[in-house]
Amino acid sequence: MTKVSTYEIDIVKSPTSKINDVDFDNLSFGRTFTDHMFYCDFIDGEWQQPKIKPYGPMSIDPSARVFHYGQAVFEGMKAYKDDQGGVFLFRPEENFARINRSAKRLAIPEFPKDYFFKGLTTLLNLDKAWIKSGDGNSLYIRPFVIATDSAIAAAPSENYRFMIICSPAKAYYKGSVKVLIAEKFSRSANGGVGFAKAAGNYAAQFYPTNLAQQKGFQQVIWTDADTHTFLEEAGTMNVFFRIGDTLITAPTSDRILDGVTRKSIIQLAEDNGIRCDVRPITVNEIIEASKNGSLKEIFGTGTAAVISPVSAFEHHDSIYELPEITANSYSSILKKNMLGIQHNLSEDKHGWRYELK
Ligand SMILES: *Cc1c(COP(=O)(O)O)cnc(C)c1O
Repeated sequence: MTKVSTYEIDIVKSPTSKINDVDFDNLSFGRTFTDHMFYCDFIDGEWQQPKIKPYGPMSIDPSARVFHYGQAVFEGMKAYKDDQGGVFLFRPEENFARINRSAKRLAIPEFPKDYFFKGLTTLLNLDKAWIKSGDGNSLYIRPFVIATDSAIAAAPSENYRFMIICSPAKAYYKGSVKVLIAEKFSRSANGGVGFAKAAGNYAAQFYPTNLAQQKGFQQVIWTDADTHTFLEEAGTMNVFFRIGDTLITAPTSDRILDGVTRKSIIQLAEDNGIRCDVRPITVNEIIEASKNGSLKEIFGTGTAAVISPVSAFEHHDSIYELPEITANSYSSILKKNMLGIQHNLSEDKHGWRYELK
């Protein structure tokens, strides 16, 4: 068998573009997709020739293992365009490394780095017009891998498909959210898959989040599965607490996802002379701090919203309100810093921007 040269991507361009049908001022997150998609199949123990095709439905056997056992992982990243037309990614090496850490935990073969970057940059160059410059605009990028074997025996698949699809996004700002602290349900456990971006982690969160929403809360703050006393993540975001002038966020573990935004915010806090302690933090500690007035802020961090402030939290049927957000809130300062770097508006002293060539 001759091995195909996998380095060249087989490209079929879309004969027409859908871009003129899209109302870029009224995008709802993750519902509109660009003209092309990237994919690469893993067959006979090898990643095959990568391909780019017009975005659209694809045919998969109903017995494909992804449908039965949830063997799937994904990533979330963004591209930004500056006013000169330059396109930038933010720390994409981190997303590449993480999709392979997630893949390993789900018994999915690792995807080669050169395929990932060549696929990503070729796709972005083809669909560059979909990345709009200006405040809050970006292109959300979704790499993912699914198990494609036509076989429902409960075993890891032998065949997989790696894909990248892209969706234009506006600023993802829903105002501050009210959250419920989990007292019964858990997102993750020791030795589990909480650190991985496994598709099933999200499915497992939907029901408890629906219950929280029925009670008037937008999100759940997840606590440790054993005792429900340690604060771990907020919805699908990492979470930070400001007590006095110190930020606190939990250390990453089996149960806590190592967010690119989280680690960037920790660095930016340091750059701003804001102390940030990475240590376990308990529910009691924030309740005490709320009662004595030293709890100033709670915010979630993640690629989609960057920073999402919390206005109130509930625990044991008591509601604790947080102070109003101002321009001097740490969440406002750090979000502005992040967006400045991402949109190529400020100095990038840590080398986080990756310019599309
Ligand atoms: C993706 C994700 C995050 C945020 O990670 P970023 O790299 O900052 O986008 C946080 N928690 C969970 C559970 C996630 O899935």
